[in-house]
Amino acid sequence: MSELPKSVEIVEVAARDGIQNERKILSVDTKLDLIRRAIDAGARRLEVTSFVNPKRVPQMADADELAARLPRGRARYVGLALNAKGFERAVAAGLDEANFVVVASDTFNRRNQGVGTEDTLAAWAEIAQAAKGRIGTGLTVGAAFGCPFEGEVPLARLLEVIERAMAHPPDELALADTIGVATPAEVIERVGAVRRAFPEVPIRLHLHNTRNTGLANAWAGIMAGAVTLDSSLGGVGGCPFAPRATGNIPTEDLVYMLERAGIATGLDLDACIEAAEWLEAQLEHTLPGMVMKAGGFPAPEAA
Ligand code: ZN
Repeated sequence: MSELPKSVEIVEVAARDGIQNERKILSVDTKLDLIRRAIDAGARRLEVTSFVNPKRVPQMADADELAARLPRGRARYVGLALNAKGFERAVAAGLDEANFVVVASDTFNRRNQGVGTEDTLAAWAEIAQAAKGRIGTGLTVGAAFGCPFEGEVPLARLLEVIERAMAHPPDELALADTIGVATPAEVIERVGAVRRAFPEVPIRLHLHNTRNTGLANAWAGIMAGAVTLDSSLGGVGGCPFAPRATGNIPTEDLVYMLERAGIATGLDLDACIEAAEWLEAQLEHTLPGMVMKAGGFPAPEAA
């Protein structure tokens, strides 16, 4: 086992991935409140919206207004884009980073963004050129551990898609377990393989906790060299184009695990729990996070 890192970066995704699958659509004011609460808890990098067709993802129809009203100066903001149009909207909105998505399986790529993986890779090549000097870029490879339509995504296929994409390297490469099927051994294998092939690009992991392997996968990913993890307050989340999709790893559960191991996250656990409880009240249903129910340890009064 390799040595523990001193710190891990967390990207708060509740305002984007977190609520895009919710039946209740939050107002821009409520979303801004969520973002402010996350920043107050210590979040310094947040994925706040996606620039997608509002007919397909009505929860994100307010992307431009939200971007215009973001509190500036305390955090970096990321917007998700699935095509060139979405990318240009992210630039125009003045976000710090655009997170572009290509899906490792062709069928899911078509469901998610309306064209095949090949076409999205071609779009990425143009976007990577257009982004230079204008906006930071992340490239997320969706269904990197398995596809809801095609099943297993062979490691060779994943590496082939990444190799094509890396002809135009992003600032950061993310592997997404979009449907939450990964296990720690696979995370170690795939993060390791990508790092060996492309040692210069920082790796972020986007993990869904669909089968309760999310936190174990996060730990495995960190041990394998991932430096950034996505998570959402309360564990909210899901993909509108993946059947039975469930939430991300809960931010406060991740903070608890890492801080107890002496790995700094920059986030305050109690403030995260409070923000998760607030979000639960807004969404009007129980959130999957567990530390928000149990509390941290040792309890503040016993500390
Ligand atoms: Zn997701």
